[in-house]
Amino acid sequence: MKLARLTALLALPLAAAAPAAVPEKPKLVVVISVDQFSADLFAQYRQHFDGGLQRLSKGVVFPSGYQSHAATETCPGHSTILTGSRPARTGIIANNWFSFRARPSDPNLYCAEDERVPGSTHRKYTASPYHLKTLVLGDHMKRADPRSRVAVVSGKDRSAMMMGGNRPDQRWWWEGDRFINPGATPSDSVVEVNRSVAAALAEPRPARDLPGLCEPRSRAVSIQGTRRTVGDGRFARAKGDSAAFKISPDLDQATLDLAAGLRRELRLGEGPATDLLILGLSATDYVGHNYGTGGAEMCIQLMALDKALGEFFRKLDQTGIDYAVLLTADHGGHDVPERYNQQAIPDAIRADSTMSIEEMNRKLSKSLGVPGPVLYGEYVSGDMYIAPKLSAAQRARALREAVRAYGASPKVAKVFTRAQLLAAPRPSGPPDTWSLLDRAKASFDPERSGDFVVLLKPRVTPIYDTRSYVATHGSPWDYDRRVPILFWRKDVVPFEQPLAVETVDILPTLAAVLRIAIPPGSIDGRCLDLVEGPDDSCR
Ligand code: ZN
Repeated sequence: MKLARLTALLALPLAAAAPAAVPEKPKLVVVISVDQFSADLFAQYRQHFDGGLQRLSKGVVFPSGYQSHAATETCPGHSTILTGSRPARTGIIANNWFSFRARPSDPNLYCAEDERVPGSTHRKYTASPYHLKTLVLGDHMKRADPRSRVAVVSGKDRSAMMMGGNRPDQRWWWEGDRFINPGATPSDSVVEVNRSVAAALAEPRPARDLPGLCEPRSRAVSIQGTRRTVGDGRFARAKGDSAAFKISPDLDQATLDLAAGLRRELRLGEGPATDLLILGLSATDYVGHNYGTGGAEMCIQLMALDKALGEFFRKLDQTGIDYAVLLTADHGGHDVPERYNQQAIPDAIRADSTMSIEEMNRKLSKSLGVPGPVLYGEYVSGDMYIAPKLSAAQRARALREAVRAYGASPKVAKVFTRAQLLAAPRPSGPPDTWSLLDRAKASFDPERSGDFVVLLKPRVTPIYDTRSYVATHGSPWDYDRRVPILFWRKDVVPFEQPLAVETVDILPTLAAVLRIAIPPGSIDGRCLDLVEGPDDSCR
């Protein structure tokens, strides 16, 4: 019975004389991260998908996968997907953090840089997985069988670093107007995709068609503080506008084209061991930041993504390779407050400039009688660091006053100090039941985290200057924490588990499918059983 069940899952007939109860492993694992693909977007659009996302929706579906930590940004989120570990263990606590010891001249560190490279700054850096403290799936696969090959392609360097880890065979990411890797020679497929991108950029692009489904969503919404409206865009762009290319479905299409090219070129899935192909599809995130999640732009983007994924899977089907797919996201997302206000959520608001780090520093500097910045931080919320130049007494006072000042803001939910986070136990239990302290603890690394962390109230967008991005994620609230986790393999017996699981569960789940042992106690996740019924893919 057990054998039959496992065979059904893995879709492989038993060889007539094979006594082995062990089903074959897939020849290729395809891991896809759709940046900012929230559980809310998945739920809104699920019934309308008829391409690749529909296929995955008919596999094993975990609609409530949690990026369980508080700092729901791209780098931390991608660091959880293939490591089995939360940011407290991966060390990737944010997209940027501060270290006055690592680089005193420019203490702001980018998550995917290597600050040991002479002359680097957080803006002009060498992309690297140096900060990632844990192994990734590709490392485990290569340990188990050195013949396994790993390729990663992404629209962002940080997702390529955090999912690919230290030793992928090929790694390419989007920069400016092409896919790059300064340490590698572009293979034919890289040259070919970059050439076709250049050809596309050499022409203006007319507006995309508006699918019928997207018509009701196509309505201009004014953004506070600007003359800009969002909501009815259709991705028209001028000749040569590579920034607009990036904020459009074209970026994902190019990423999928390159992934398919590398698959072919490296013959992934055709070797003696299981191979791994990792994709970071970043356009959904850029569309969310620039237009919000509730307008025609996101609708067009998701419909295009569904179609492009469908074509990608069809190409894989044609190879006859036995492949498994895992799709998830690095974090969720939140719409612009201006549209929420028109759609029955009057309390959605933006942070204001009184909460800016500059404004806080003006107040603290005056009150402490200290020239220059007292606090370092990236945004109006998140990790905050007290300047190292302060004496112990000044530090204690700065901390007290800063915590009081942030805590007094009606838009701030909670401020936790380093001492509180150090003392907190490691979170456990279902992630949807975690306290705010649990969520912040999952983002806390004593070496890298700040002196205190500021968490905004729900539905407060931390962007008050709306000249570039209008919407974002990064909060400890479920709209930013909840993402789908979708598993598919040919002839998989479908089921849906609506209860909360975590993205850190993905690594042990895939390791079990590949029958790779993960050292106990080395990760935070647990294996998710992909077989409905009494049998268990985790055993
Ligand atoms: Zn992201």
